[in-house]
Amino acid sequence: MYFDMAGRIIIITAPSGSGKTTIVRHLLNVRDLNLEFSVSACTRPMRDGEINGKDYYFMTPAAFRDRIRKKDFLEWEEVYKGSFYGTLKSEVDRILGLERNVLFDVDVRGAVNLKKKFGSKALAIFVMAPSLEVLQQRLESRGTETRERIAERILKASQELVFKDRFDRVLVNDKLHKALNLAETWVREFIEAGMT
Ligand code: ADP
Ligand code: 5GP
Repeated sequence: MYFDMAGRIIIITAPSGSGKTTIVRHLLNVRDLNLEFSVSACTRPMRDGEINGKDYYFMTPAAFRDRIRKKDFLEWEEVYKGSFYGTLKSEVDRILGLERNVLFDVDVRGAVNLKKKFGSKALAIFVMAPSLEVLQQRLESRGTETRERIAERILKASQELVFKDRFDRVLVNDKLHKALNLAETWVREFIEAGMT
């Protein structure tokens, strides 16, 4: 039974600060969902504690451009000015070869593109905070960005919210335990529907 649950695609996206990472970490810990994180390529500097090949495949802009030219990406975006991120076709093949389900954590434009490519084979979930005010508070209390960066992210979030109707599900992340339960339920239903 467990090994039949493979080959399904889950896409999680959100404006920055909405709780995407928190939800992705939770889903990866639910063992029977058989999810494997899709490791993206990116050109930003490695942060303390990050591991090449686990968090990202870190590469130089020249190497990234070379992979674009070779058509190695399913999708790629300049998510922040000067920082490129992309999903390698080889990464999806790696995960499907392991007979596992793929979990993507990508920005909103990347998620729209992946959903277009996979269609009904993928479940695309858009996570959002209950309001822009709450989003701002969460970014402030996370404490990883400067005041200017937070203002940029709030502006970007208001633009990204327009895309929410392109996704299969919209998850309003208000009470965290409820959001985690709902995300898990939707993912489980989707994976189980693929087994019939
Ligand atoms: P993202 O990956 O979307 O940028 P994070 O998962 O890092 O977002 O969450 C942003 C911040 O908000 C983190 O400090 C996280 O602990 C906190 N957070 C996430 N969900 C909730 C919630 N439902 N209620 C309160 N704080 C939350
Ligand atoms: P961070 O630099 O904080 O790890 O990630 C920045 C943003 O890039 C996040 O919103 C993350 O979801 C997004 N991202 C990570 N990998 C990819 C990818 O392969 N493609 C796209 N389009 N976005 C990605």
